[in-house]
Amino acid sequence: MGKKILLGEDELPRSWYNIAADLTEPLQPPLDPRTRTPLDPSQLEPLFPPPLIEQEVTTERAVPIPDEVLAAYRLWRPTPLVRADRWERLLQTPARIYFKYEGVSPVGSHKPNTAVAQAFYNRAAGTRRLTTETGAGQWGSALAFACRLFELHCVVYMVRVSYQQKAYRRVLMELYGAEVIPSPSDRTAAGRAVLADDPDSPGSLGIAISEAVEEALGREDTHYALGSVLNHVMLHQTIIGLEAKRQLELAGEQPTLLVGAVGGGSNFAGLVFPFVGEMLRTGQRRYRVIAAESSAAPSLTRGRFTYDYGDTAGLTPLLPMHTLGHGFIPPPVHAGGLRYHGMAPLVSHLYEHGWLEAVALDQTEVFQAAVEFAQAEGIVPAPESAHAVAAVRRAALEARSSGTEIVVLFNLSGHGHFDLTAYQEYLTGNLSASRLDDSALRRALEQLP
Ligand SMILES: *Cc1c(COP(=O)(O)O)cnc(C)c1O
Repeated sequence: MGKKILLGEDELPRSWYNIAADLTEPLQPPLDPRTRTPLDPSQLEPLFPPPLIEQEVTTERAVPIPDEVLAAYRLWRPTPLVRADRWERLLQTPARIYFKYEGVSPVGSHKPNTAVAQAFYNRAAGTRRLTTETGAGQWGSALAFACRLFELHCVVYMVRVSYQQKAYRRVLMELYGAEVIPSPSDRTAAGRAVLADDPDSPGSLGIAISEAVEEALGREDTHYALGSVLNHVMLHQTIIGLEAKRQLELAGEQPTLLVGAVGGGSNFAGLVFPFVGEMLRTGQRRYRVIAAESSAAPSLTRGRFTYDYGDTAGLTPLLPMHTLGHGFIPPPVHAGGLRYHGMAPLVSHLYEHGWLEAVALDQTEVFQAAVEFAQAEGIVPAPESAHAVAAVRRAALEARSSGTEIVVLFNLSGHGHFDLTAYQEYLTGNLSASRLDDSALRRALEQLP
């Protein structure tokens, strides 16, 4: 069998997979924060176009992918499935390890899978401008690229610490034509409130979301786009798992362990939902499924499952999710895309019902695994994706000790070419452990709405 398992463009899936169709218990609805009653979906209209709101609530199993979105996908999809046999040999493991490589997209991550869909539906509904937030810059560059394809103006609030550390991500967004603003900023009331408290705030995804939502709510011609967390984002990302399932079938393999890194949950959901859906339908727990989070933002392993705001200022509806508290600002770590207080409601729900496991990893272990992987397979993982690499490494070493044959599928959600300062820190011995402040976490959990 070859190193890579490739699909042709004509084998691109024509529908996304909606796991809401197969849940054994219904998902709790988002709540209107003023009344704490289920939100009427039409209340989302200032933020999102009708087709995306419909995708947020639909229980249809297959949602057709529009031709214009398929045409955009063909710029980089289908993505390769790769056997990590060199890494297997280095680890001396009986595990067979496959990764789905999403780093081949124009911006180097899985995020354009939903960005192009969201830009398309907005354009079709007459939206002129999109606002959004970005952590490490991957989502911002994905949306900037998608807005360029579908002729929308793009405004990106970029978490200040990343704005300073990831200057080239900003250049990438600007070359696609986006306007990039360091967050917290003085352009919005939410940003001004944070700055009044702490003029040197490093920012966080939660704060940047508040700013982007506030701007979208204040302008008729402007909608908001979210890169993770919401049901429609998970839906669009299932293209990853649908392709991977087909590719493993072609390879004659049946996976036993599925792994992805989790920030808001979208690349993980995208890879695993088609497999988890199969378990939900058959009732057979055929796959072990592990979400790898950052020990700086351990929403699954240390958060609470409850209703919370998606943003720091409390402008969004209340979502049923695992959360560290919307006021919690995770310590700066190199995996900026994992620095989020909450977890997608769909991922949280499946975790709560025992279909998924989670592990929190420190960045020192993560970078060690990533460098080893790069030396074996050549690809430098994004710091976020490296969390999946480290979790797979643990499983492969366990398989070695116990002599168990396992078949692993993991999502290599992006490459780390814009993250070389982080690798430099690791290589020069200057990378610090990603510990969170326990008392800050306790305070944030006490302030849950
Ligand atoms: C944003 C990002 C993540 C984390 O976000 P999810 O929504 O949890 O996928 C992971 N990997 C990469 C490469 C990212 O850009």
